[in-house]
Amino acid sequence: RGDSRSADSTVDSVCPYCGVGCQLRYHIKDDEILFVEGRDGPSNHNRLCVKGRFGFDYPRHSSRLTVPLIRREGAPKGVDPDFDPAQPWSHFREATWEEALDRAAQGLVSLKNAHGPNALAGFGSAKCSNEEAWLFQKLVRTGFGSNHVDHCTRLCHASSVAALMECIGSGAVTASFMQAQQADVVILTGCNPAINHPVAATFFKQAAKQGTKLIVLDPRGQAMGAHAYRTLRFTPGSDVSLFNAMLNVIVTEELYDQAYIDAHTEGFEALKAHVWDMTPEIMADSCGVSADAIREVARLYATADNAMIFWGMGISQHTHGTDNARCLISLALACGHTGRPGTGLHPLRGQNNVQGASDAGLIPMVMPDYQPVSDAQVRSAFEELWNTPLDDKPGLTVVEIMEAVRDGTIKGMYIQGENPAMSDPDLDHARAALGTLEHLVVQDLFVTETAQFADIVLPASAWPEKDGTVTNTNRQVQLGRQAMPLPGQAKPDWWIIQEIAKRFGLPWDYSHPRDVFAEMKRGMPSLDHITWERLEREGSVTYPCLSDDGPGEDVVFSETFPTTTGRAKFSPTLPLPPDEPIDAEYPTVLTTGRQLEHWHTGSMTRRARVLDDLEPEAVASLAPGELRRLDMQPGDPISITTRRGNITLKTRVDTGMPEGMVFVPFCYAEAAVNLLTNPALDPYGKIPEFKYAACRVDKAEAT
Ligand code: SF4
Repeated sequence: RGDSRSADSTVDSVCPYCGVGCQLRYHIKDDEILFVEGRDGPSNHNRLCVKGRFGFDYPRHSSRLTVPLIRREGAPKGVDPDFDPAQPWSHFREATWEEALDRAAQGLVSLKNAHGPNALAGFGSAKCSNEEAWLFQKLVRTGFGSNHVDHCTRLCHASSVAALMECIGSGAVTASFMQAQQADVVILTGCNPAINHPVAATFFKQAAKQGTKLIVLDPRGQAMGAHAYRTLRFTPGSDVSLFNAMLNVIVTEELYDQAYIDAHTEGFEALKAHVWDMTPEIMADSCGVSADAIREVARLYATADNAMIFWGMGISQHTHGTDNARCLISLALACGHTGRPGTGLHPLRGQNNVQGASDAGLIPMVMPDYQPVSDAQVRSAFEELWNTPLDDKPGLTVVEIMEAVRDGTIKGMYIQGENPAMSDPDLDHARAALGTLEHLVVQDLFVTETAQFADIVLPASAWPEKDGTVTNTNRQVQLGRQAMPLPGQAKPDWWIIQEIAKRFGLPWDYSHPRDVFAEMKRGMPSLDHITWERLEREGSVTYPCLSDDGPGEDVVFSETFPTTTGRAKFSPTLPLPPDEPIDAEYPTVLTTGRQLEHWHTGSMTRRARVLDDLEPEAVASLAPGELRRLDMQPGDPISITTRRGNITLKTRVDTGMPEGMVFVPFCYAEAAVNLLTNPALDPYGKIPEFKYAACRVDKAEAT
């Protein structure tokens, strides 16, 4: 705890970091969070990881933005390594809320008037509440007048959602991760839960202890491997080959569940024919694992009474990310492993509210609850709800919006709580695009790298400073409560969005997030039987919920799927190489991701003292053999170069890394790995290939 004072009050809330959604209790003294404890929530049972326990001093960091800012005339836009977010006065001046909001809205309105609705776009945030996500997409759709609204789901699980929507008609998980404890076999693939979903990982470990066979399929060795019954470390980028080979075993050895297939699916005969020749023996070489090992894991999964598949961004962040997810869905459908306790498909969601923000409509092609914008009936229902005509064309996605900024089509943006100047691929291009915007409004806690391009910066709210609901990876809608006052002139995000909306002439009059939640229920059938009052009383309700007092459905789709036919669909896939294969000039695979202690672009966790002390600087992880090949020691500096740029950082030895691969976390602005990543997109989910870029690793001079 590091503080001998005793708390004078407690507030119950939810962790603001990952999609596990651990419930916690803040202990407060003099409006400060003294320490945090886990509560007995449905996804954490009193547990917390290091971020949830120690990551709460960021709201009071010395660089916290507490006043509205307006860019000084002529101040340069761009990421300046010498810029001090705590002293932004060389680039910005302080403004009143009235002036900042007027300038923010006027800039956007005049661009719309001059160039039409397609000149504007907005990025909302998966770190904000459901109510704030709802308001943000409503502002873009009814104020800006287009569907150019997206958020970071585009960079994490958009391909998973595309495959799930296509094959089973729903983008959310079919069962909570707690169901792993009732499974006989659990596949973890392309995920690293001990790092990225640490409390979920504890339940996987517990399941393994109680006899569940964990199968870890991943190019990198990882902590879960110590608890695994089998681990297959396959060649990076060969996922589709591996999964098709597993399907081949299930088909040719007739391990599939014909009764389930007949009752619940369509397209199995086509899938059977499609995978017939993709034998493990043929695929083994490209996968870098033996045919026997592929046969064994396919048999284990198929013959289990109950089995689940969990996946992460190692699956989704590829140009074949949607194909990867389609394969995993085919595996589950072929074996009848959905719709019962201990079975299911579960893409482990990353940010605390990426599920809720997606449900609430921060997606360019769908309205809230994934209702297509192109469907006239859907549009008409929302037009009636909002009393405004809506655009019928799907909007642009995150990377497409940056392209449209670059080519001059989009001239003004409103970015709330996202940091594309750190999180987009091929950052030089993304940053150059941000620099060309005629008007950029950024709403955040700090003057982030993206805010360094802004014309107006609006000081927003940290999670412990406001009320709101969030939805975790398990579809559990949970209530977060305000525990501390907003600093200086900072305001809740929902209030700021409403003020911008009013300046677009929209007649909004919400006085609290519960008013917004009440409106959401009118457009989102998924919230049936879930009320603000229930959440205040019970803390968490799972959707779908079938009654006013039931806890909600932990496992869904036992009878039918929400598709037009009521059946799930097999979607055959062909192996495709990565967009940028390694070659003689760039012989090493660069992959990126998170660290246990740091969260995404680091804007919060690098300002949390304990977390930053634990992981204070950028490091590149390499296999011991790779370091030997470079004649280097751990801690020596290396330079990593791709066709898009170069960074220099220290090395760390990691016995889990395969040779020929380097891993770099993406939270360090001083060695921003997204300067190097490949912007090539999956054609369906429009997600960039963060998990595979060809690079060259060289010794660097010590600085
Ligand atoms: Fe927070 Fe996720 Fe850690 Fe739970 S596992 S404490 S939700 S970061």
